[in-house]
Amino acid sequence: MTRAVVSGAAGFIGSHLCDRLLERGWEVVGLDNLVTGSAVNLAHLAGEPRFELRRQDVSRGVIVDGPVDHVLHLASPASPVDFPAIPIEILLVGTFGTRNLLELPRQEGARFLLASTSEVYGDPLVHPQPESYWGNVNPIGPRSCYDEAKRAAEAFTMAYHRTHGMETRIVRIFNSYGTRMRPDDGRVIPNFCRQALLGEPLTVYGDGTQTRSLCYVDDLVRGLLAVLDGPDPLPFNIGTDREVTMLELARLVRDAARSGSAIEFRPLPQDDPRQRRPDTSRARDVLGWRPEVPMADGLARTLEYFRSTLELARTEP
Ligand code: NAD
Ligand code: UDP
Repeated sequence: MTRAVVSGAAGFIGSHLCDRLLERGWEVVGLDNLVTGSAVNLAHLAGEPRFELRRQDVSRGVIVDGPVDHVLHLASPASPVDFPAIPIEILLVGTFGTRNLLELPRQEGARFLLASTSEVYGDPLVHPQPESYWGNVNPIGPRSCYDEAKRAAEAFTMAYHRTHGMETRIVRIFNSYGTRMRPDDGRVIPNFCRQALLGEPLTVYGDGTQTRSLCYVDDLVRGLLAVLDGPDPLPFNIGTDREVTMLELARLVRDAARSGSAIEFRPLPQDDPRQRRPDTSRARDVLGWRPEVPMADGLARTLEYFRSTLELARTEP
């Protein structure tokens, strides 16, 4: 049986990825220290004999006994609210954690996939961003712990590929959203959804003209698997072409939630990227991947999820 190791398995994306890998009939070992994830995201897998969650800080070392065919490295806090709170942990998991996970497939002859990020482009001066763009990152700013850790993670991955001839894959994930995000995660979709559902003001940072392109998690995970299965070690952007301003997004979420919330403007965080949209030609041409879930559907599913999560929190003693 094919056996995969997934770091960050209890997180938002990692938990969905585990579901899809199990659907393939694979055995999955999840590694997570639960710093930003939750075992609740995997509670539906209790009793699944092909799945196991091990509580492990992958920055300290990775021990997995038995054969391994694939290693998928998703462990890393990813919300800007985590950057000032735990910058050293973020740097460690991007560097030491990546190196530790790369050693597993090196010993086992397995394939390695790195969940990288659009943040490697920083505040981009090229728009939309193709994989060939090297980025515009502030190496000492408040986001640098994340951006530079992911750039180092990509460098580690390519070094292992070149030095050991390993099968490696790199996915540059653009902003993604969907079920199993934490309502208090601090990223824009959880914030707007929670605020709209509770009737609180939606907090738009800056003047709300900065843009993002938001990909629904089902499309993203299909993209991760397409890259994993594909032939190419060079990075792939995975995300949508639908670029929205944050003010437009606030209105979309408020309308989808049928909420009467006000919109309030708050200071723009330092180094907040002005615009972000992937050039996904490579993923389309090489892998035949394209996003399919329209934003209205993705938002409806996500709002439904947050509605039930918030309801549960209210009724718990
Ligand atoms: P998340 O916080 O929900 O998941 C990350 C998981 O990694 C959590 O379960 C956390 O507990 C775990 N983790 C963190 N440090 C760890 C460590 N040292 N050892 C073991 N486990 C550890 O975030 P997510 O949005 O699901 O992100 C998953 C991956 O995708 C991350 O690598 C992130 O950088 C990348 N990514 C996400 C997005 C997005 O929009 N969600 C965008 C770009 C890149
Ligand atoms: N943002 C916002 N209100 C919020 C949270 C975020 O306007 O309550 C903005 C943030 O300034 C950024 C965008 O939404 O411009 C996306 O932020 P997020 O933290 O989701 O991810 P980022 O792309 O910045 O890593």
